[in-house]
Amino acid sequence: MRTDSNNDNARNAPHDRPPPLGAATLAELTQGVRGQLLDAGSDGYDEARSIWNGAHDRKPALILRCAGVADVIRGVQFARSQNLSLAVRGGGHSLAGFSTNDDGLVLDCSPMKGIRVDPYTRRVVAQAGALWQDLDHETQAFGLAVTGGLVSTTGIAGFTLGGGIGWLVRRCGLTSDNLVGADVVTADGQLLHAGAGENPDLWWALRGGGGNFGVVTSFEYALHDVGPTVFAGAVFYPGEHAETILAGYRKACAGAPDRLTTVLNLTTAPPVPFLPESVHGKPVVAVLGMWSGPVTDGDQHTRAFREIGPPITDLFGPMPYVAMQSLIDPLYPSGLHNYFRSAFLHDLDEPAISALLRAYATVPNPLTELHVHHLGGAMSRVPAGSTAFATRDREFILNVVARTPAAEGFPGVVDWARATTGSVAADAATYVNFTGEASGDQVRASYPGDTYDRLVAVKQRYDPANLFRLNQNIPPSAER
Ligand code: FAD
Repeated sequence: MRTDSNNDNARNAPHDRPPPLGAATLAELTQGVRGQLLDAGSDGYDEARSIWNGAHDRKPALILRCAGVADVIRGVQFARSQNLSLAVRGGGHSLAGFSTNDDGLVLDCSPMKGIRVDPYTRRVVAQAGALWQDLDHETQAFGLAVTGGLVSTTGIAGFTLGGGIGWLVRRCGLTSDNLVGADVVTADGQLLHAGAGENPDLWWALRGGGGNFGVVTSFEYALHDVGPTVFAGAVFYPGEHAETILAGYRKACAGAPDRLTTVLNLTTAPPVPFLPESVHGKPVVAVLGMWSGPVTDGDQHTRAFREIGPPITDLFGPMPYVAMQSLIDPLYPSGLHNYFRSAFLHDLDEPAISALLRAYATVPNPLTELHVHHLGGAMSRVPAGSTAFATRDREFILNVVARTPAAEGFPGVVDWARATTGSVAADAATYVNFTGEASGDQVRASYPGDTYDRLVAVKQRYDPANLFRLNQNIPPSAER
């Protein structure tokens, strides 16, 4: 099943494939880059073409594994001159499958993993192929961090450009709120720097507008004192108490300090040793969280979340920050068929809780989950118009994580996920990074009207021909 209705993957049916590239053209590209150029006949092509979401099995004509900025420039120029569909890849975790394509060029930045931390200015510059596990490893050597992903195999690039919600979001804001500059190769092959006072419209758009405006080759972030030990973990409650736990969670969130970020997960107990066998395969409610203040205060500040009812087990305690950053990695392996769908919520009120409970009662399989992230805190104090990520006044975001092991049954879970967000909050704003599809309507729903109009104007200025269209696409005004 293909869910990406707004991109070249849907448009490139076999009859409108671009003509094959000539040998001389390919040789010129190979000689003009430092990285590897792969086509269907190359060793490693199958591995290089795959992305995290197994629902998107594509066959690009070429994959350029960029060794540096010069390769990115060359790749952008090549795609433009050959009229090739262009996919840009960082960590390869795009839910909608935007970091691959059929018959086009994939500009794979994953080999670009250089990271330089300056512990004195508390800044880090990282190339676009870094994953969260790479960045955390380097910054934690100095007890520093920036808001990162809940799964450490996710790339910093797509994550930051869409916003970035993680365990530090209430204390430090979104990842993109901590961006202090970015190097960007634009559609005309120019390298620009965007930051305070430099290319202000591009700078505004990069922080929430996704990959629409160019290829970001490096990101500079402000860092915060975090860890190396934090008070974090998960507490599990029986699924039959879900109503009480949801209501108690709402109450606990109302009193939560900014240094505490939590997520509630309506899920099914996996067969793991830290849960009693009697609950394996049964519905459970997990509340996960991280307190990043003094470790000795953690017990007290997390207590309201750990005593909502009698727990099955409470695994909160001191742990390394990097352990918390990778705690749930094993539960999100690559290769499954995945579809995420989100809805920002003003409140976890009674109608929302009832709708969540109805959805929870009908989850199509044990892999499928309902995540409720608590937002607010520092993220909500950033002025809404100051970046392209403008939905900042909502207390929660629902992320419906719908999965199947393989293609079988996938359309059914996608339908269930669509119905779930529709029933919990029909016209809610959505988050571009938690989006398994990106129809024009879905993208519009991710931005307030004035933000969307401004994004269109920036797109028109930097990418009028919509070269960067494999993304949550903002069409330039000329295409509207
Ligand atoms: P890629 O697939 O490499 O890129 C995604 C898109 O970003 C590309 O199609 C392109 O449009 C753009 N892009 C990538 N690299 C560049 C670049 N260098 N320059 C310009 N554009 C680029 N989000 C959260 O906010 N919080 C979470 O905790 C979180 N957890 C997740 C866990 C999992 C298992 C998954 C699959 C996703 C999660 N996400 C989360 C969503 C995540 O933020 C997005 O999927 C994001 O796009 C992943 O970035 P990436 O670089 O890995 O992806």
